[in-house]
Amino acid sequence: MTGHIVQLFYLVAAASFILSLKWMSAPATARRGILVGELGMLLAIVGTLLRHEVVSYQGILVAFFLGSAIGVPLAYLMPMTAVPQRTALSHAFGALAAALIGAAEYYKHTPHGLVMVALAAETLLGFLTFTGSLMAFGKLQEILPTRPITYRHQNVLNLSLLGLAVAFGVALVLRPEQTWMFPIFSALALIFGVLLIVPIGGADMPTVIALLNSYAGLSAAAMGFALDNKLLIIAGTLDGSSGFILSIIMCRAMNRSFTNVLFGAFGQAQTTHEQAAQRPVRSATPEDAASILDSARMVIVVPGYGMAVAQAQHKLRELYDSLTKRGVDVRFAIHPVAGRMPGHMNVLLAEADIPYDKLFEMDDINSDFAQADVALVVGANDVTNPAARNDSSSPIYGMPILNVDKARTVMVIKRSLSPGFAGIDNELYYMEKTLMLFGDAKGFLTSIVKEIGASVHA
Ligand code: NAP
Repeated sequence: MTGHIVQLFYLVAAASFILSLKWMSAPATARRGILVGELGMLLAIVGTLLRHEVVSYQGILVAFFLGSAIGVPLAYLMPMTAVPQRTALSHAFGALAAALIGAAEYYKHTPHGLVMVALAAETLLGFLTFTGSLMAFGKLQEILPTRPITYRHQNVLNLSLLGLAVAFGVALVLRPEQTWMFPIFSALALIFGVLLIVPIGGADMPTVIALLNSYAGLSAAAMGFALDNKLLIIAGTLDGSSGFILSIIMCRAMNRSFTNVLFGAFGQAQTTHEQAAQRPVRSATPEDAASILDSARMVIVVPGYGMAVAQAQHKLRELYDSLTKRGVDVRFAIHPVAGRMPGHMNVLLAEADIPYDKLFEMDDINSDFAQADVALVVGANDVTNPAARNDSSSPIYGMPILNVDKARTVMVIKRSLSPGFAGIDNELYYMEKTLMLFGDAKGFLTSIVKEIGASVHA
């Protein structure tokens, strides 16, 4: 009887995970997607706890309190801008759990045949994802050097190490009772995880994290085969494939090839802004900006990483409110890699309750810039840089960008002429039609909103 109930729980949980992924792909349904995903996870956990024969409740209670003691403060203490490294830590822990379960299963049951194949795959992927994700965390948190660490014959050495680990895995499948091989196999996987990530620069870490997410998912799927748990197979496969697709989308949006991210040891683009800093730019005050916005018919706002740093999304909402009240058509253009993680801008704008139907993806809004009176860039830089279109020598050449330079007037809120993530100067700032609004995004927007309010009451 319990067996049937457990299977029913697992079935509903699997359906919830699939729906959750589907709903999370659009801002309007994303909240529902998260809730359904959480519900699915709850059902999966409760279903597993009902399996008296395999569950030790004392151990689970200890793990529950220990995990919560680490996870809850982590969620509250790490700021929004540190979400990429927090995600890396979560993958590290998830992968370690999968690898340790693999190790425990091996020593407890020493399985043979296909189960041992699955268990070897689970342990290999789990251990390498664990150390790889810790390296990614270290680079993003700048505990480790963010530049690529390279040396001669690196790729050959890495591939040989992986080959050796796989060879030990195959040997374990053929002779599972040779337990001395298991620690060597695990150690090789742990070392490979470190060596796989150190040559990759900090700049590519978010893409690498999506890929590590995929490995952790595959490890969980392999664990599902090893433990004969269908829900783990489904959830792991969903995780594995969605992480892989996400990393490909991110590579495309940054115009990087997949192999280049993994083996290129790029990471840090050169900084060329010194020479450009002397060139003249036109700057404007909040009063100027308010009166230009006030007399516009159509304004396209382009948020970027600086908006996230300044936490300016709520002020942007106030600006949106006051402009729409005055009949201005305000839209938001979202670049797929604006900010520092996929969906970064969508999350922040949703938090400020900006209507979803005003958020447009790059391909849907790029042709509208030519009709816009104002493109208001708020803390975005690389995603607006025309060099990606015009300058074949630029490191970001070929990256799809938002066509802000096509708008009648461009206004850019940022604190200085400093470059963004790619470390390169932005031609946009020196154009005749561009006005630089120097200041912190939140502070500057506050002043603009005040000015517009004052002009209403005047
Ligand atoms: P960006 O090119 O990094 O530029 C952000 C700008 O914000 C900076 O130039 C900075 O200029 C400004 N800024 C910082 N703090 C500010 C504040 N308090 N107020 C106002 N402005 C502030 O950002 P982006 O245009 O969003 O482009 C994202 C970049 O990250 C791309 O190169 C992308 O490839 C990369 N990336 C994104 C992801 C992702 O998943 N989204 C992942 C990996 C890499 P000042 O210092 O002058 O203020």
